[in-house]
Order: sequence, then C-alpha cells, then structure tokens
Amino acid sequence: MIIDDKAWHEIESWIIEMRRNIHRFPEMGLNTIRTRGIVEEALDYWGIPHSRPIANGVKAWLGPDQGNALLLRGDMDALPIMETTGLPFASEVAGCMHACGHDCHTAMLLGAARYLKTHEHELTRPVVFMFQPGEEGPGGALPMIEAGILESPTVTHAAMIHITDDLPSGVIGLKEGPAMGGCDDFTLTVLGKGGHGSAPHTGVDAIMVSVAIIQALQVLVSREQDPLDSCVISIGTIHGGYRENVIADRVDMTGTIRTLKPTTRAAVLSRVQEVVQHVATMYRATAELEVDTGYPPAAANVPWTRQVKSILAEQLGTGHVVNIAQPTLGVEDFAYVAERVPAAILNLGIVGDHFTTGLHSSALMVDERALKYGAAAFAALALNG
Ligand SMILES: [Zn+2]
Ligand SMILES: [Zn+2]
Repeated sequence: MIIDDKAWHEIESWIIEMRRNIHRFPEMGLNTIRTRGIVEEALDYWGIPHSRPIANGVKAWLGPDQGNALLLRGDMDALPIMETTGLPFASEVAGCMHACGHDCHTAMLLGAARYLKTHEHELTRPVVFMFQPGEEGPGGALPMIEAGILESPTVTHAAMIHITDDLPSGVIGLKEGPAMGGCDDFTLTVLGKGGHGSAPHTGVDAIMVSVAIIQALQVLVSREQDPLDSCVISIGTIHGGYRENVIADRVDMTGTIRTLKPTTRAAVLSRVQEVVQHVATMYRATAELEVDTGYPPAAANVPWTRQVKSILAEQLGTGHVVNIAQPTLGVEDFAYVAERVPAAILNLGIVGDHFTTGLHSSALMVDERALKYGAAAFAALALNG
C-alpha cells in the first residue's frame, strides 16, 4: 500500500508546512501571485518541469512524454471572509481566508508531485498537475483548458480532490455520475407604470407583477420539474417602490438557478425565460431577464470513478474509501474538465477532534492528518490509474 511508504513521514510535515504558509497569505480570484510563486519554487526545488499557461496558473508534468495523460487538479484561491479561528497560522490578510480548503488542495498536489518525482521511472503514463486560480470565481479552469492544458500530452483522465466536512479525517468519498450542480445567476427587471396608490387602475403595479412571476417560477420547479432531477430557483434580492401610496413602476431582482444535468439546465433556462415574459405580458408589464451563465453541472465518469475507488481501497485501505449517494447543488469549475475528459471527484474528509464549522465559514478548522491521504490518493492514481 502506498500509504505505508515511510517517505510520507517527511512529505506529510512538508505538506502541512506548505499548507500553513499558503493559509497565512490567502489570495483571491485570478490574483494568486504569491501562491503561484510558492508552487513554482517548490517544483523547481524538486526538479519538476512546469509552465504557466495563464498568468497565475501552473502546469507541471512528470513521466513519459507520450501516452494518455492523467490530469490532477488543485485550486489555489481563497474567499472574502474574515478568519476567526485564532490559529497561529491564521490569515494575515484582512477579509480574506482559505475557508474552502484550496490551501490544502494546493499543498496536497505539491506533496503528490514531490512523491511522484522519486517514483518517476514507475510512471507508465504522463501525469499533468494543474494548479489553477479563480475557482471561487471568475473561473480558472476554462482559461487553462483554452490555453491547452489538456493537450500535449493528451489528457484522457482527470481527478480532483476537494475537502469535505461530511466525512471523518482521511476518508475519501466518491459519487458516481452527476455529482455537482450547474449555476446560472440572473438579474430580472420588471417594468410597469407608476400611479397613485389609491387608483391602481391608472398604473401597472410592478410589485404585483413580480409576485406573480416569483410564484410562477416556483410552480415551474414544483409542478414541471421531475422531483428526482434536482432544480432550484432562488430569488436572492428584490428591490422596488418609492413610498406607501405610490404604485411602483419598477422592481429589480437577482437570483440563481441550480441544476444537475446539462439537458435539464437548458430546458429550465428556456422555460424561465418563457414564464417571465408571459406573466409580465399577461399583467401589461414588461420584463428584462439577463442570465449570467455560470459553471456547468459536474458529472463523475462512472467506469473511471469505479476504477479510482478500487485503486484507493487497495492503496489507502478499504476504510478510507466510501460511496457518496447524493449529489450536491454546489458548483465547481473542474466541471469544464469533466465535460471534456472522464473525471473523478474525490471528497476528502477533514473532520477531526477540533472541528468547528463547515466550508465557507470563518471558523473552519481542518484536521491536517487528512492531507497525507489526499496526496497519497493523487500519487496512487498516477502510479496505478
Ligand atoms: Zn468554495
Ligand atoms: Zn472549493
């Protein structure tokens, strides 16, 4: 078993050191300049070749030049959250924190690269390491794909790890098939006609029309959508009106649409457009709907995920691999990779003794004993996949 290799003793403490270093100085979006520097410096130190397909994204590689490559993904960006853990290595950047665990992902991928460098002669296929910025937005995976990260060598399989607060430390969960949601945010403006509140017939009440539109959108979810094929439409903000006796001529809303399947996503988007326009017309108003297309749904390739599970059970121990039955409507821009090549999504448990709260929370504490298992999982896939 790869996990029993004594080499991990040293690599584990190095991974934790790297993770804490990245954690102290988080960076957001595509501006992962320092983090990218840490990655490149480590790769240079261990003699691993690398390039920079986009400004702050790094591609590294090991193994034969030719053949079907395996891509391993780690994301590097943080969130606009003020850390409250009080840890000695807590964020020193006000209002910015690694609350989604991308510090762990980057450190684990580096740990795997370091391990694999010493086993390079055993690699039967090329391995590509993708260190990407911008996962929390505006997206770093797609620009790196457009810059050719899936080519030369040609990537035929991919895997990513995300930490999860749903599993105990060091346990890896995998979902087969549809795994994560697609996200489309929208702004919706309803335009009516102003008037006196005592004489509503002289105007077109944008507030009343908005109420009808919101109701109709929820009916779309509850009465048209297969209940076993998830879809959520949430209106997150609504603003309109001037004072108690004025008929509002305008209402502005924003919301999000989450779906699990590409076909459902397309169908729901077109029905939302229809419903909004028809309800507005029915009540003599007009509506402007602007959809900001987000990440697509992410599906884990079933045969590849099953192969990953058996490799992990063999190399980490059966107790470290579990099935995940339910998908989530959270999003992940690795979905762009999964759209193009068979992909596996590994959810690494980080819940230990000092666990406080979950991901995207200011008090998130990661049980760092999990990190060795993530790095070993990456390495095991490269050596056995
Ligand atoms: Zn996140
Ligand atoms: Zn994340």
